[in-house]
Amino acid sequence: MLRIGCHLSSAKGFLSMAQTADSIGANTFQFFTRNPRGGAAKEWKPEDVEEMLMFAAKKDISHFLAHAPYTLNACGKDDKVRRFALETMKDDLKRLEMLPGCMYNFHPGSHVQQGARKGIELITDALNHVLTKEQSTTVLLETMSGKGSEVGRSFEELRSILDGVELSHIMGVCLDTCHVWDGGYDIVGELDRVLEEFDKIVGMERLKAVHLNDSKNCMGSHKDRHEKIGQGNIGLGAFRRIINHPRLKGLPFYLETPNELQGYQAEIALLQGIYDEA
Ligand code: FE
Ligand code: FE
Ligand code: ZN
Repeated sequence: MLRIGCHLSSAKGFLSMAQTADSIGANTFQFFTRNPRGGAAKEWKPEDVEEMLMFAAKKDISHFLAHAPYTLNACGKDDKVRRFALETMKDDLKRLEMLPGCMYNFHPGSHVQQGARKGIELITDALNHVLTKEQSTTVLLETMSGKGSEVGRSFEELRSILDGVELSHIMGVCLDTCHVWDGGYDIVGELDRVLEEFDKIVGMERLKAVHLNDSKNCMGSHKDRHEKIGQGNIGLGAFRRIINHPRLKGLPFYLETPNELQGYQAEIALLQGIYDEA
């Protein structure tokens, strides 16, 4: 079975997200923990979460993926920026305990002229402050395209972050197809080799989720502009190989393509149609 869904708006609460997922043929979904541009989080209602979990269990919707706001920068130059990142992650992780066993994905950050080494040090520091032994949430580092001074543009950078985290056993990686492609990994021509390299450097067991996005740009462009599935430079053939790859089978896939719900519904149907059950 292909576990696939898309990014959904959390504006109407949890039950509404699960119902929306179900209505477009999704069996998983991703959502922002708060306004993606930052700021205070809306209260999560325990009854809403409970109702969502019941609905999701009935419909076999699982693998909830929470996404931290884009403005979160654990390795910013300014301490105010870093403090905001820390407080946000702490608060998000606390609230996510309402969804036992979910995943929390974040962009490692941008080092803004401090250099990748310093960036990695600040990110690991932040994680060592916010992760707790008691949490049930797995925290994921997203692979980045390397736009500007983004950290996480290579598997080696992700490895260095993981190496610095004390509770790294509760951490994993979310591979974004547009980001790795824009970052210079040839998932179109050499998927096997890229996954081999990921395994060697990061470890396949760390890969917990995949963001499925086509790219408006060329491999190695370091741009990060998502495109609809099959309409960009990655192309449908590559997505067929990705969702059917033996090393990726069983992982949850999330679309973050430029679409309204109808477009997501069509992409989910398209991908389910080219998925080999066997
Ligand atoms: Fe992301
Ligand atoms: Fe992504
Ligand atoms: Zn992106």
